[in-house]
Amino acid sequence: MQIPFLSLKAIAEKYSGEIHAAVQRVVDSGWYLQGKENETFENNYAKYIGTDYCIGCANGLDALIWILRAYKELGVMQDGDEVLVPANTYIASILAITENNLKPVLIEPKFETLEIDDSLIESKITPKTKAIMIVHLYGRCAYTEKIGEICKKFNLKLIEDNAQSHGCRFDDRRTGALGDAAGHSFYPGKNLGALGDGGAVTTSDKALADTVRALANYGSQKKYVFKYCGRNSRLDEIQAAVLDVKLKHLDGDNAVRQQIAKYYYDNISNPKITLPKRIDNRNNVYHLFPVFCEQRDEFQQYLKDNEIQTLIHYPIPPHKQECYKDWNRISLPITEYIAEHELSLPMGPTVNIEEAKEVIRLINEF
Ligand SMILES: *Cc1c(COP(=O)(O)O)cnc(C)c1O
Repeated sequence: MQIPFLSLKAIAEKYSGEIHAAVQRVVDSGWYLQGKENETFENNYAKYIGTDYCIGCANGLDALIWILRAYKELGVMQDGDEVLVPANTYIASILAITENNLKPVLIEPKFETLEIDDSLIESKITPKTKAIMIVHLYGRCAYTEKIGEICKKFNLKLIEDNAQSHGCRFDDRRTGALGDAAGHSFYPGKNLGALGDGGAVTTSDKALADTVRALANYGSQKKYVFKYCGRNSRLDEIQAAVLDVKLKHLDGDNAVRQQIAKYYYDNISNPKITLPKRIDNRNNVYHLFPVFCEQRDEFQQYLKDNEIQTLIHYPIPPHKQECYKDWNRISLPITEYIAEHELSLPMGPTVNIEEAKEVIRLINEF
């Protein structure tokens, strides 16, 4: 039995009727940008997340770039200011900071949770620190009460990278509504995925929302009048229509992921394989299911030989990348350990129990 890591085709097929109807509606409308579909999706997504505003944009990287750029335009930050960010994240979180001429201060995660270690944050704060960007990596909520308190105490903006955790919660609130602003990605493989690129910013700060909306539309708030040197970074009507369909199914899709994760947790019993600390389903929407193995590459090859596709998230941490050469000598042992030993098992809203059983059987025989 061949088991893919994630089948985007199967996900599209699951909602094929509704998706085709939505695309058809947009095609027939003759209106392809900045119209009703964006308005509807933005309203529905803001309501779902629990913020006053949602601004669609071209992708998740841009969403994060616009939040920081808007804070600069509003005078909250300036060139050279520091943003605390987990060292073990996808490159986009870091690129959004450096693109704005701000300085990322990399913070190690806790290995048990894989999320930013909140006990390390305070010692990294300097007079230049203006924000903490938390990343709900793998679908796990990274927010803690302590992070909220630190932001208050030091007057820092709390920015969430919610690219991997649509639908996740902390208490009664959803990630994406826990801080001052959040960037969301709708890259096809994300929990809420478009049929191409897409992204959004959510916030309840009106000034920030207005600035982000202008920046993502050439810096314009009024047609042919340009307040900022913005860019063209809009969500198109077809993607907004598709996202609105998929938003209706997001909680159901996340429930499938949680069921598969439960199966993995309950049944993987090979002592060579370490699973991350299990947390409540409210706090984890299992964008990915990372496991750790000392012989990771051998383990991956073994699964591949048995027709199970896996991926590594991520093989090279940002501070070891060529684009950040100046940091290559920095030592971040937990982040590096994760990069060297992590393997992501098949996970998604179309993985079924039979497939999970087969993955577990093979893992336990490794
Ligand atoms: C996917 C992702 C992004 C960027 O989203 P794109 O839509 O691909 O630009 C940002 N941060 C994290 C953690 C991601 O996984």
